[in-house]
Amino acid sequence: MSGNRWDQPGVPHKGWHCVDVVDLRADGESADETDYATCQMCGNEKIRFVHIMHHTDLNDNFEVGCVCAEKMTDDFLGPKRRESRLRNRAARRARWLQRTWRRSAKGNSFLNLEGYNLVVYPTKTGRWGYKIGDRFGPSTYPTVNKAKLALFDDFWTATQDNERLWASD
Ligand SMILES: [Zn+2]
Repeated sequence: MSGNRWDQPGVPHKGWHCVDVVDLRADGESADETDYATCQMCGNEKIRFVHIMHHTDLNDNFEVGCVCAEKMTDDFLGPKRRESRLRNRAARRARWLQRTWRRSAKGNSFLNLEGYNLVVYPTKTGRWGYKIGDRFGPSTYPTVNKAKLALFDDFWTATQDNERLWASD
């Protein structure tokens, strides 16, 4: 799919809704190594944030850029807001390992953030697990940094609507 589909018959201009937005540099990829997407609505290339759009008249979702997402939903605030949230997430993830993790008496690394106790601990099998409050992560990881990043991804997903938490540092 390429070219400008705004002029293509049968492609609705309105009535779309956004299913999800994906940051192609979510894991800290550099600009050079990123495989950017192309907007399936207007054909504009090099999209970092892919807005996945659904329309009830069509079977296939469209993957589009911010400008088209705004027109398709008639929402000129939401798409930009979703992008800035993901941009914020990527920046924080990139700094996550450089934060001042404290060390408990048991040898665990931990952070206390806005009332959340985030812990990374060594397992008996020489791997690393994490805990958010009383909730253990679903898996273990070969290195402490991998566990810290998995903790970040889980924690962000669970708390992304908490503006206060992610506005502070
Ligand atoms: Zn577009």
